[in-house]
Amino acid sequence: MQIKRRTFLKGALAGSALLSLPLVFDSKADAREELKPYKPDKVTFNFCEMCFWNCTEKVFVNDGKVRKLEGNDKSPLNFGKLCAKGQAGIKTLYDDNRLKTPLIRVGERGEGKWKKVSWEEAFEFAAKKFKEVIDKYGPETIGLEMHGTGEPGIHRLFEVLGGTTNFAIPAYSQCTGSRDVGFYYTFGAALGGHEPFDLSNSRYIIMLGRNETESLHVSELYHFSKAIGNKAKIVYVDPRYTHTAAKADKYLQIKPGTDAAFVLALINVMVTEDLINHDFVDKYTTGYDKLKPHIAKYTPQWAQEQTGIKAEEIIQIAREISSFAPNCIIVPPRRSTRYGDDTQFARAIAIANVLLGNWFQPGGFFKPNKIKVPNADMPDVEESKYAQLAQQKNAANAVLSLTNLPTTTQEIVGVLGLDNILWEAIRTQKPYPIKAMISYATNPLFHTGDSNKVKEAISKLDFYMVVDILPWEHTLYADIVFPESTYLEMYAALKSIGWKYPYVNFREPAVDTIYDTRDIWAIAHGIAKHMGLGEFFPFSDAKGVLYSSLNQMPKDQRDKLLKDGVISLGPIPEDADLSGDIDPKVAYQKMLDAYKKAPFNPYPIALGEDVSFNTGSGKIDIYSDSLAGNSFDPLPNYTPPNKPKKQNEFRLIFGRVAVHTHARTQDNEWLLEHYDDNNVWINPQDAKSINIKDGDKVVLVKGNLKSLYPVKAKVTDKIIQGTVFIVHGWGRFSPYTTRCYEKGVSDAEFCSNDTDPLSGAAAFLNSFVSIEKV
Ligand code: SF4
Repeated sequence: MQIKRRTFLKGALAGSALLSLPLVFDSKADAREELKPYKPDKVTFNFCEMCFWNCTEKVFVNDGKVRKLEGNDKSPLNFGKLCAKGQAGIKTLYDDNRLKTPLIRVGERGEGKWKKVSWEEAFEFAAKKFKEVIDKYGPETIGLEMHGTGEPGIHRLFEVLGGTTNFAIPAYSQCTGSRDVGFYYTFGAALGGHEPFDLSNSRYIIMLGRNETESLHVSELYHFSKAIGNKAKIVYVDPRYTHTAAKADKYLQIKPGTDAAFVLALINVMVTEDLINHDFVDKYTTGYDKLKPHIAKYTPQWAQEQTGIKAEEIIQIAREISSFAPNCIIVPPRRSTRYGDDTQFARAIAIANVLLGNWFQPGGFFKPNKIKVPNADMPDVEESKYAQLAQQKNAANAVLSLTNLPTTTQEIVGVLGLDNILWEAIRTQKPYPIKAMISYATNPLFHTGDSNKVKEAISKLDFYMVVDILPWEHTLYADIVFPESTYLEMYAALKSIGWKYPYVNFREPAVDTIYDTRDIWAIAHGIAKHMGLGEFFPFSDAKGVLYSSLNQMPKDQRDKLLKDGVISLGPIPEDADLSGDIDPKVAYQKMLDAYKKAPFNPYPIALGEDVSFNTGSGKIDIYSDSLAGNSFDPLPNYTPPNKPKKQNEFRLIFGRVAVHTHARTQDNEWLLEHYDDNNVWINPQDAKSINIKDGDKVVLVKGNLKSLYPVKAKVTDKIIQGTVFIVHGWGRFSPYTTRCYEKGVSDAEFCSNDTDPLSGAAAFLNSFVSIEKV
């Protein structure tokens, strides 16, 4: 039996009303036949792991098989909705290409030749390798990378092994790092993964390259849709006309890498015409007096030259958004790591928002709230003999040793790491050799700037361990591959995420494991036990970890979690209704009055609470003494993007589609039905200059490098001249992920390895390629 494709698509795109219609899971049933009410044998609770957003969901099971996923309507995160990727989680569970058993390499690295082994053999092998590396080189020579998805059990193992420094979350260097560092220097707080943008209550929204509808998380899209319903004015700025551009009131096609010039000119107009929110700026900020003379040179006329956006447009937008302050927002893009001046770009956006006074205000930035949950009862990792050895050795953080980052940035990088630099440290074996590396649920051949350098880096390792669900490309290079169970087959530690409405998620398995796989806590436990460190993993799997936390919770909360699959602090006040003729001031006041009685408060400044900031001054630093003290610009300046060196070279930019998550879903049967290959977007004038027609097969070329497989050219004026665009995550070369094998072109082969000097994050888009017809 199969869920019919059309039904799946409808359900994915529709809201909860459609999702609650009865479905009949019978491929032979004709649409005209009478529908029978769907009755699941059982319903279990879970949270989606198809992306890091972790939407809360219910899992419907019949005859021992998962038949349907549905958003949990009791969750204040996603209000009963899932996106297409989330619903297609079923097809990841039942993907017959999955890793089915532990594997040990028998061929050369890259060949993907393995032998199947038992779990005991796999644990013994990994334990022996880790011991060898620690004995020979020290515990600091173990590295770990993990992404937003997955469980922290592997990080605990890393700490127990003494690996305290060389850790990286790729999302920092690829995605949010520069933006969060820029906000940290300004507000003393990073924005984090679940960003605090109060879109639903906003009356004017400017988005720069924040492609909300395709780089998509359910609740963000839900709130964005509410903003549209509320008739908020939306200005979208991007070199490419995206689906989000199609939803905007105004689309501005900007030259790539010039966004900072646009924002600096907005600030110029706000300051010159005195459009700023004086009450807010006077009370909460320092350095506005220094901003005034600094910003004078960044006029709209100057910005027109840089960005290609008319000066009159910039002036009008600055006036319009200021007129809605503080209930408006200039959305800081998620992936701001692009051209090397991204932290200063983020600072410019932060300051422009400060001038609107929209921090902790409806329609601006809300204050995230979180429910504290008890941790599982486990011994302190610092008591492990290897952690103590690492402490004695006091080894430097390899990444920080290779960078010149200012002190404040180092504090952030010390926690989140820099994946791009970590792989470079492995490749160069500097400042000291890193000899063992773990990749957990992330594929370094697709998330770093130059995948060939990562392959070279792997060749320097004594031991490369991969834990994943599918045999993606990096597994071909691994010495050992541990097959992880999918989220539908396992328990997980409780998950409490900071968000506008606080909530806790709960996961239980819907079905037994299909293959010989285990959860990451069980994998970490097995390796630790074989190294004589079993005491640090008193629970043999995720179930033990979960119930240790649950058993420490107050009974009423625990019962509610087990009954509903989620707990939240409520009731949740309604958003302001700005859709009709109601005076917005009245609508906001009604909402704020309701929050006065709620057990949590996302708008403390609007409600007149005392707020201080985690900066040296306790206020928002428009002028940053910290940056000045480290010889960086204390106020944001503009650095023009680099230029191509040769004729007919085009800047390569990349992005996402709504039905795939990064490079992790390209083997998913249902998602492939909606997007199964990427193509190269090229402007008609550029295409004409190199004699390319729409649909021609082409390859990307950079020096000696040519893309592995030809793809089609898409000739369209939706992309600005001088720039080509591809969707991320394609160019797949693992023969074991058969559905996407040899499809598309990968940006990771061609991206730049430059970094932003202030955050250390990758500046991927400083790269140019030429296009050849094949
Ligand atoms: S946004 Fe989509 S893929 Fe991500 S967690 Fe939610 S339902 Fe899953």
